[in-house]
Amino acid sequence: MKHLAERARQVIPGGVNSGQRSIPGLTDLVITEAAGARFRDSQGREYVDYHAAFGPPLLGHNDPDVGAAVAEAGRTVDLCGVGVTAGEVELAETLAELVPSVEKVLLTSTGSEATFHALRVARAATGRRLVVKFQGCYHGWHDAVSLNVISAPEKVGTHDPISTGILPEVLEATLVLPFNDEQAVRRAFAEHGDDIAAVILEPVPHNVGCLLPEQEFLRTLREECTRAGSVLIFDEVITGFRHHLGGWQAISGITPDLTTMGKAIANGYPVGALGGRADLMELFSSRPGGPAFFAGTYNGHPAVVAAALATLRKLREEPVHEHVFRLGERIRTGLAEVFASLDIPALVSGYGSVFVGYFMTGPARTYDDLLRNDANMFIGYRRRLLEHGIFELPLNLKRSHVSYAHTDADVDHLLESAATAAELARGDVLDLTGASTMGGADAHR
Ligand code: PMP
Repeated sequence: MKHLAERARQVIPGGVNSGQRSIPGLTDLVITEAAGARFRDSQGREYVDYHAAFGPPLLGHNDPDVGAAVAEAGRTVDLCGVGVTAGEVELAETLAELVPSVEKVLLTSTGSEATFHALRVARAATGRRLVVKFQGCYHGWHDAVSLNVISAPEKVGTHDPISTGILPEVLEATLVLPFNDEQAVRRAFAEHGDDIAAVILEPVPHNVGCLLPEQEFLRTLREECTRAGSVLIFDEVITGFRHHLGGWQAISGITPDLTTMGKAIANGYPVGALGGRADLMELFSSRPGGPAFFAGTYNGHPAVVAAALATLRKLREEPVHEHVFRLGERIRTGLAEVFASLDIPALVSGYGSVFVGYFMTGPARTYDDLLRNDANMFIGYRRRLLEHGIFELPLNLKRSHVSYAHTDADVDHLLESAATAAELARGDVLDLTGASTMGGADAHR
């Protein structure tokens, strides 16, 4: 029988269903089982999973409590597409209680839909055209904001392959600024303030690993948006629930006007959400005359709503954050020691459950700083970790995640393996053909 990966390539473009699931050097990966902190492939290899599907399974794969809630929902009700269910009300109330900016909230199936609608309503509310985004941040696959993740403004729409096919008008309506640069923000507002509909950012740009935001930068965004009447959008698709039940806004004390959520909200089931100021959210009201249209056949599907409720309940009732923060800290400290003991220049960054070891010396405040990362070493080290049964996505600038299912023994194993993997990777000469070393098409998810 033909290998499944080969069959996939015959009928699925590139053999996978999302960008970056096909990894150079790992193109025949067929996943067969996932549970807790591990997954297995069709060749019987088992990996401790720190990739975590780009972030959702904070509780670990196939969490039994979440699975039971989904099964129970399936016995009770399924999609009827009219009215509202008790689960949707409970989930909206929970989000309004947890997330500081959320007065009203709508459910989507993905994070991309949430950011799409956030930008649309910002343009509808302000009657303005421009959106400000930041280098290193990714907000989904759609055209509402130019996709380019890293580009300097002069490169927008010209050199960035993932923006191909987007209307030039959309690219021109996107201002791309360096992260953590409040002067650039002030200049953009001084020049274009009257035409800026929204500022959107990942409060922690995790799509290039982990750049931590400076408090002064976030404060400047809040100040300038308030003064100019622009909508401040925190894209908390990654940071939400993973770093704090109230997202980065609860950590920083800076409250945006709108918040987008996804990923860890439902431990891997397809749920996104857009919430925020009631006056903005009310523009989506389905009453006749509501100026912003919002719809989706699968929005608020009872099965995924049950998954979100069960996930949030467990995050609130069990010491999930305490556990993943402790293991995350152990890993960050341990890796820094391992690389230092080998005299390998490294900057281990992260927050809470997220960690990423860049092979460069610090500090890293902006995307440009990350260009000093040695991609050859970054990818080579992770390829070597695979030999130890450890999966950190072997693509440049990817972050790794700890879940509630990871144990101290998993961390011990990672730290022991890291020394061997880093030592060997130092001598490796990789063929990085097809593996972007600079971000661009490979810099997001
Ligand atoms: N925003 C951020 C910050 C993301 O990381 C992602 C996905 N990686 C999205 C939005 C889009 O979410 P989705 O893939 O669920 O559409």
